[in-house]
Amino acid sequence: MNDKKRLKRIADEKNKLANQKLIALTFDDGPNPTTTPQLLKTLSAAKVPATFFALGKEAQQYPDIIKEESDLGNEVASHTWDHKDLVTLSPAQQKQEIESANQLINKITGKNVTLFRPPYGSYNNSVLCQTDLTAVNWSVDTNDWRYHTSAPVVQNVATYAHDGAIILMHDIHQWSVDAVPQIIQNLKAQGYTFVTVSTLLDIRNGGAKAQQVYFGR
Ligand SMILES: [Zn+2]
Repeated sequence: MNDKKRLKRIADEKNKLANQKLIALTFDDGPNPTTTPQLLKTLSAAKVPATFFALGKEAQQYPDIIKEESDLGNEVASHTWDHKDLVTLSPAQQKQEIESANQLINKITGKNVTLFRPPYGSYNNSVLCQTDLTAVNWSVDTNDWRYHTSAPVVQNVATYAHDGAIILMHDIHQWSVDAVPQIIQNLKAQGYTFVTVSTLLDIRNGGAKAQQVYFGR
């Protein structure tokens, strides 16, 4: 996309979403052949876009799910190939982990998403400098992986949601996916508009910049 088109897109989005409370749901570590399709049905029925930070090794195994995520209007980005803690790797390994997943995902979706999320939110200057992709962490951690029921996941979102938040969940846990209908219902009732991370960064940060790390508000 050229600069002029991009600026027009940002202006259009800003205009449409001006004065709205925005929130970005993000789902890491998938796709999973059981839970991710269920989540996609929920999101689709509610007309809610989300951002998926998928693992390269899982995308390789389930390319059809990646394609469906994208075709339904969600954003799909790299969560690295193999979920290693990037700060423990050599610069060359860091680059390989981040970009191999990005390249595969973009090849499957036919899009050019330039975000990635470092596993465990763990990064340093070397990680950021190995790639032109933009790092995205989160501002609300549901801690969903700790629980085996949906109620605390729903409760954590209700407690910590705020305008501009990036919410961290995992689409590989049944209880997390089961929590999503209630989370969406609650946030809609509070007047939130759901956006992808790229849209959020376009509107609130003037677009995602390379070698930066964003957390939402
Ligand atoms: Zn992860």
